[in-house]
Formats: sequence, C-alpha cells, structure tokens
Amino acid sequence: MKLIATILIAGAVFAQQPAPGPKPEVQGNDRDGYTDTPVNPGQPWKVHDAARPRPAKVTPGALVSTPPPSDAIVLFDGKDLTKWVTRMRNGQTTEPKWKVENGYIEIVPRNGRLVTKEKFGDVQLHVEWMIPEGTEGEGQGAGNSGIELMGRYEIQVLESYEGLTYADGQAASIYGQWPPLVNASRPKGQWNVYDIFFEAPKFEGERLVKPAFVTVIHNGVLVHHRKEIMGRAIHRRVATYAPHGDEEPFSLQDHGRPVRFKNIWMRRLKGYDGQ
Ligand code: MG
Repeated sequence: MKLIATILIAGAVFAQQPAPGPKPEVQGNDRDGYTDTPVNPGQPWKVHDAARPRPAKVTPGALVSTPPPSDAIVLFDGKDLTKWVTRMRNGQTTEPKWKVENGYIEIVPRNGRLVTKEKFGDVQLHVEWMIPEGTEGEGQGAGNSGIELMGRYEIQVLESYEGLTYADGQAASIYGQWPPLVNASRPKGQWNVYDIFFEAPKFEGERLVKPAFVTVIHNGVLVHHRKEIMGRAIHRRVATYAPHGDEEPFSLQDHGRPVRFKNIWMRRLKGYDGQ
C-alpha cells in the first residue's frame, strides 16, 4: 500500500514538472552586464545589471605601499608561501603551486585558490595586486582574481583601468552587490593597493544575527564605507549567507588568470565596537 502511495505521489510530482525544452537564452554578457538577473534585495538594481552606471574614474595619487606594523600577521613578505596552502575545487589541500618570484606571488592558473593556514574573523587587511602587462581578455576575463574574506566574501580584483564589465563586478566591487564608489584603478603593469576593514558576520546556529560589513580603500581612495555584505555572491544570482565559523581562512581566488600579489598582512581587530 505504502509503495503504491509513493508511486502515486512521485507520479503526481513528475506530472507537475514543466515539459523539458531548451534553456532560456541568457540576456547579456560579462562585458555589458545582464537584463535577466534577479533584483538585489534593497537595491533598485539587478545582479550584474546592464543599466547600472559604472563608477566615475579617479586618478589615484602616488603609490602608498604601507609596510606591516608591529602587531600585524605577515601573510606574504616577498619570500615564500609558508603561511598558505592551495585548495582545489574538490576541497583537497596541497602545497601551494603559485609562483613566487621577484618579491611577488603570481597565480599559476587552474591550480586552485591560495588559502591561509590561519583563520581570521574581524580584520584589517593590506594587500597589493597587479594585472601584468600583456594580460588579454575582456569582461570578467581581464585578469580576474579576488580577495576572498573568510574564503567567501569577495572584493573583486580585475583590470578595470581600461576593461569594461558590469558595475558590480569591476575591480574593488563587493562582487555581485555593490560597485566601488569610484574607479581608482591603476593600469596593467602597475601595483594597486587595497586596505580593507572587515567585520565578520555572526551566526547563532543556522541563523544570521549580524551581517558582515566592509570598508575598502583602493589606492588611497575610499570606495566602500562600512557597506553591508549581502552574503556569498554567485555569478548571476542573489548573494546569500550560509553559516560558518567565527573565524575562517582568508583566500585569494584562482579565476584562471596570472594576477600578482605582494605585501599581504592582516591585523586582528578587537574592541572597535566597545566589546
Ligand atoms: Mg574575481
């Protein structure tokens, strides 16, 4: 009897499925943006909205390469990757395969993201990055990497001095959510500097009780001022939160492009909220 009931229910569910057919065509692309994506909650804009204005360009001042202060955790000092492992898409970790030369790290594409051995929550982060000269591609293919706070909340790294993409996916965007206030990118072959101030989200069991917030300074220019992060972004979808630890490893994204990084350090933040 139970088996028959199961078959009947399964049959009824199956009957409700839409008839299989060709997938609807994607409206847009990674250079111009999209018109068929969902609206970001609390914003007038869709995810990767083709109509969202790109931020105005600002020419930053001279490079300010801040050396680490005494209480910083130096993650990369130009010499080696002893603070890091590589994590593949299947979750497997190995010795890092990215190159270290001339005092910088260079992504060796498709070797997995570079992940810290240490875990972090609320932090101040300093990181310098460069899109090498000779990098080709457009849209999201122009030197793409990412600063992945807690391994999941991405501040975009991309060639945005000349390259065009949707506003919420250009360099210094909170990917898929917020474009930077202005575009302070330097051209290929020059170092960019991010100073990032990050408040980790808080969970009680499965429930989010406080979202993450981030402040970002790009080449000395404020581009996000304690902006609320909406969750972990996914291409063409609304970002969502999934519970995780109070501290998680920090990572640099492998998006298949040979982007460079140097002078990476963190400070753990305590007491800023009076607690
Ligand atoms: Mg990226």
